[in-house]
Amino acid sequence: MSPEDRMRHLRAQLEAHRLDAVLITHLPNIRYLCGFTGSAGVLALTDRDATFFTDGRYTEQACVEVRGAKITIRKGKSGMAAALKWLRTRSGIRRIGIESSYLTVAERDVITRSLGSARKIVNAPPRVEEMRMVKSPDEIAKIRAACELGASLFDGLTAGIRPGVPETEVAGQLEFAARKAGVDQMAFPTIIAGGHRSALPHGRASHAPIPPRGFVVCDFGVILSGYCSDMTRTLHVGRPTAEARRVYAAVRDAQQAGLEAVKPCKTVGEVDASARKLLLYNGLARYFTHSTGHGLGLEIHEAPRVAAGQKEVLRPGMVITVEPGVYLPGKWGVRIEDTVVVTETGCEILTNCPKDLQAV
Ligand code: ZN
Ligand code: ZN
Repeated sequence: MSPEDRMRHLRAQLEAHRLDAVLITHLPNIRYLCGFTGSAGVLALTDRDATFFTDGRYTEQACVEVRGAKITIRKGKSGMAAALKWLRTRSGIRRIGIESSYLTVAERDVITRSLGSARKIVNAPPRVEEMRMVKSPDEIAKIRAACELGASLFDGLTAGIRPGVPETEVAGQLEFAARKAGVDQMAFPTIIAGGHRSALPHGRASHAPIPPRGFVVCDFGVILSGYCSDMTRTLHVGRPTAEARRVYAAVRDAQQAGLEAVKPCKTVGEVDASARKLLLYNGLARYFTHSTGHGLGLEIHEAPRVAAGQKEVLRPGMVITVEPGVYLPGKWGVRIEDTVVVTETGCEILTNCPKDLQAV
């Protein structure tokens, strides 16, 4: 769908939700709908039209990027102030939807006060997030490119992991290589967690040195052309113990089971259950303390949540991660993660990188 089609689709749904207008303020949603990549703006949609409001800093950028919406810039006013004034002066606009999940209480107060008691503010349903779940071929191409670039950095990352080197240095070298390769930015703070820190599922790179022996969890993602990649590999410094091998094999099997469960008509909850079942079988389920994965695209975490009991049904074009892990408190942890796209018959792994236990 082109941005114009996306907005038309959304505008056509306003009536069903008894909305006269909706204010889109979440920047990834704005980018998805009209193409604007700047950091301030508001998109106002009614069943008749679409108008994008921003401030003077973005005059040129908005003219180049925005598609399918009229652009309005009021001198000395923020995009929000201009959008609210515009809504106040339009007839027939009584019920206005807002993206409540992304607004602060203060911002909501400003909107409510500005629009007065004659107009009602309601929480808009997350229709843009639902549309964003199924990616277009163009979006899949961008995510594929981000994942390929991310995976191409892995050999360099492996070479940089040596006992005594601080985790931050390993992360810094990876991020420098990513920048040199042309990424927009990293998708999230790189996780390099060695030794006992590998037992922290979100162990951001610290000043701790890579230990002489043990696991190192490496979880990183890049953003290329606005779209994210996400992958985790767990390496081992020195010779792994029998227990380390056993746990690694169990996580690998769980990840494989999760990948095999990704196919159209299955629910995301079933993907989670498939991965979890394998760890249960190996007596490790209680050490798998997070959900199996998440959607990604313009944001690193977006719908659907690949978690226990979630009922969202997989459809071709969805992009999700499969990332089970086992974390033995105070000891160490293992996680393996791939980004995959749902196909007509199953899924395709986009982060192609070896997964055998690698000792460095
Ligand atoms: Zn990750
Ligand atoms: Zn992830």
